[in-house]
Amino acid sequence: MEVGEVPAMYLHHLSDPDMAQIYYPWGGRHYRLQTKFVNGSCVALVPGKGCTLGESRPLICRVWPFWWRSGSDPSTGDFQLEVDGDCTLVTHWNMTVDEVLKELGLSESSVKRELSALYEALREHGMALARARAVNIPPRQLLNWMLREAQLKRHAPHVTIWRG
Ligand code: SF4
Repeated sequence: MEVGEVPAMYLHHLSDPDMAQIYYPWGGRHYRLQTKFVNGSCVALVPGKGCTLGESRPLICRVWPFWWRSGSDPSTGDFQLEVDGDCTLVTHWNMTVDEVLKELGLSESSVKRELSALYEALREHGMALARARAVNIPPRQLLNWMLREAQLKRHAPHVTIWRG
């Protein structure tokens, strides 16, 4: 993992309230915690093999191309699925949500479960970054700071660390 400057292809996330939570503004730039990127590509992506992390890939990669319908509350588990408009299955093949689920061999309930978990993870991550920003942690120290905070939270779970 690394804290890196946001790759250009993800800049549109900054105008998305759900995704904007994971970006860390510093000195007029935006950073995020991510799998390491080299030459604009995730290092886990190996030509001819695809993603080498398999089932261990980050949650946000696991749920793609699905998302929750805009305006819904994924924490309740009662929400509609949408498919990311960049997915080729939609842009080229005009597939519906049900057809994409079938094509990828996924069940609606498992995707919803992972989306609910992602929704909570984005919120927690956003709160952690807000706290780091409040105490002026520079991006190069952010990963170690977050690991330390997580350790503290594990050893003293009654202490709320990541709320502003
Ligand atoms: S799916 Fe794998 S290769 Fe693609 S961004 Fe996620 S971790 Fe990296």
